[in-house]
Amino acid sequence: APVVVVLDGPAGTGKSTVSREIAARLGLSFLDTGAMYRAMTYWLLSNGVDVDDADAVALASEKPVIVSGTDASGPTITVDGQDVSGPIRGPEVTAAVSAVSAVPEVRARLVELQRDSAAAASRGMVAEGRDMGTVVFPNADLKVFLTASAETRAKRRAAQLGISEPHQVAAILADINRRDAADSGRATAPLRKADDAVEVDTSELTPEQVVVRIIELARE
Ligand code: C5P
Repeated sequence: APVVVVLDGPAGTGKSTVSREIAARLGLSFLDTGAMYRAMTYWLLSNGVDVDDADAVALASEKPVIVSGTDASGPTITVDGQDVSGPIRGPEVTAAVSAVSAVPEVRARLVELQRDSAAAASRGMVAEGRDMGTVVFPNADLKVFLTASAETRAKRRAAQLGISEPHQVAAILADINRRDAADSGRATAPLRKADDAVEVDTSELTPEQVVVRIIELARE
């Protein structure tokens, strides 16, 4: 039967890199659900929707056609046919995505797409996000919750963005803390570890060590 492996956790724990590698090694599909929330946010910003107006966001969120390619060797994301994989990583989207992802209608719509995507994955899927284990795939075969110290997470995010200036790293840390507080504090599907998830602290581990540990868990 198709297997579902889910990874949740805050920003900068290495979820995307690790999830994608696990999917590739196990021959499974891969879904980055953060990219879907980012794609929705990008579309709203591009179409002049005020992202702090929850009613406007709820209404507009039905319009964009968001498609996530689930090939672990080269995941893709399009909105209305346009490749948005670059712009969704920009600072404008990162600053606005927490507000958008707190809107229940947005979540309902994207959760449906996420479940459809898993249903279409014949061998199974590795899905990563914030609420994979708690809301979207409550019956997942393996649930992992990744953590790391805030400093470690800021350094990783900075390295990803090619930033090394101390004051810029400090700004990234502040941004990560703001986003985590928003994701953990929202009413709908807050970021939290599912009761039956295995917690893996990645602070002192290389991505390869995290991958190996999770593949071991998947084989148990
Ligand atoms: O993982 P990433 O940093 O790309 O996620 C961007 C944002 O999307 C998160 O900060 C969160 O607000 C939202 N998100 C979510 N639920 C998910 C995945 C992401 O609310 N399953």
